[in-house]
Amino acid sequence: MDLLKELKSMPITLGLLQSTRIGISVNALRKQSTDEEVIALAKSLIKAWKKLLDASEEKSDEKKRNSSLPTSSSKESGDSRDQRRQDPPKTPTTPKITSFPPVPVTCDTVRNKCREMLTSALQTDNDHVAIGADCEHLAAQIEEFIYQDVKNTDLKYKNRVRSRISNLKDSKNPDLRKNVLCGVITPEQIAVMTSEEMASNELKEIRKAMTKEAIREHQMAKTGGTQTDLFTCGKCKQKNCTYTQVQTRSSDEPMTTFVVCNECGNRWKFC
Ligand SMILES: [Zn+2]
Repeated sequence: MDLLKELKSMPITLGLLQSTRIGISVNALRKQSTDEEVIALAKSLIKAWKKLLDASEEKSDEKKRNSSLPTSSSKESGDSRDQRRQDPPKTPTTPKITSFPPVPVTCDTVRNKCREMLTSALQTDNDHVAIGADCEHLAAQIEEFIYQDVKNTDLKYKNRVRSRISNLKDSKNPDLRKNVLCGVITPEQIAVMTSEEMASNELKEIRKAMTKEAIREHQMAKTGGTQTDLFTCGKCKQKNCTYTQVQTRSSDEPMTTFVVCNECGNRWKFC
């Protein structure tokens, strides 16, 4: 509660939200907490931060929407924000957490092509579905950081993009991709990592543990979780579990159910 209050009094910028990913943490806290006071304060923080995001998205969308939305030319940003809020959400499902910080749009064909290629590299296997990551957005962030680092799209830039792609696609190193998808490795980090770092066994071991935790938190944060006595824990044999269901993209596939034992913390996937 003290920390949340402190956060409330801090001036938060989009840059801060992006670099600290504090929004994800606070949202996870909100979902997991049973304390009404904590939930309410976390909610109001997230609401305030979302406004920052909306305002910035409006700026970047303005060019595109000028012709279709006459109100977007209105100088009163408060008005258009209200209108946005009343709009039905584009995706009826829970918004993807990784899409929280926005990425500048680019008209450069080389850069857009690289973003596309990074997207499909991130989409290798179906990890991105289970994790619920927004691959296009992540790819754009990674490309943006590479471009900011190299400052042009010459050979060095192309080599950098190429090596990210081959490592992300590497079937012998799926943890790298998973870590990027769930945010254990940030777009900023993957943009500048060396090939050794991307392939490092040492790092892999440390991150494997973190990935499992992050994936679970990601999914819990997405859907909350439902308490049930339907599952028996394999470890402690108790029937006090919380389960979370994650819908894969195609609706004809079954939902994946993640179960966590409330008694001993044992976690497993139920198919
Ligand atoms: Zn148990």
